[in-house]
Amino acid sequence: MRDLSRDTAFLSINAATLKPLTLRQAVETLARHDIRAIAPWRDRLAEYGVREAAQLFGDHGMTITGLCRGGMFTSGNEALDDNRRAIDEAAAIGAQCLVLVVGGLAPRSRDLAEARQIVRDGIAAMLPHAREAGVKLAIEPLHPMYAADRACINTMTQANDLCDALGDGLGIAVDLYHVWWDPRLEAEIARAGRHKGRILAFHICDWLVPTRDLLLDRGMMGDGVIDIRRIRSCVEAAGYTGHCEVEIFSAENWWKREPDDVLRICVERYQSCC
Ligand code: ZN
Repeated sequence: MRDLSRDTAFLSINAATLKPLTLRQAVETLARHDIRAIAPWRDRLAEYGVREAAQLFGDHGMTITGLCRGGMFTSGNEALDDNRRAIDEAAAIGAQCLVLVVGGLAPRSRDLAEARQIVRDGIAAMLPHAREAGVKLAIEPLHPMYAADRACINTMTQANDLCDALGDGLGIAVDLYHVWWDPRLEAEIARAGRHKGRILAFHICDWLVPTRDLLLDRGMMGDGVIDIRRIRSCVEAAGYTGHCEVEIFSAENWWKREPDDVLRICVERYQSCC
């Protein structure tokens, strides 16, 4: 298992963790803390300009550990076009993957099996374009509490099954917040590890008790109940050598703090709790 305690070489910050900042502010703040990896969101990328953002990242030596996000295949006819654009944007900024939040139930539907079929077909339809663009698609299984509105792929098992079925260019973003509870987690991480490069991203935060908001109350590493180090050791035993990406949505706590303080604590916890 890697020793993370000495530096920030494998630390990435998902830009949502620094929600109040513009893209430029986020990149400059990260650079000040000697953090050289970021996962941006498409709305901020659009605001700033994709080409300009690529330049900004390059100027600061940033690794792009993922672009957030594509997916939402169940949302209707526009979904495939939007995913094509997302793939092109990911290619333009050299992102290591495009994160897929695949979508929940189709509008006015109660048919979860149908939703999962739409998702499978949607990913299959996107893969040729992604392969051509050299962009890896990362399915992010989301906690089942989001099955209706955000993602009907809820476990590592489902994600591995889709990867097995659809083949090259597809992998998984393992996000602690979504998968920590799964009794099959370790087995499925090991299963992913049998395919080189299937684990494309590792998102870290913590699960607070109580969690006051299911979307916007993620905890800082060390403040909750996830055995982060144990899961990281599994992910690394499965061959993952990439970054740990801190992704904390926190409307009532971390988003209200000074970004410099947030990053200082991110570094501290990354080095001591992960
Ligand atoms: Zn995530």
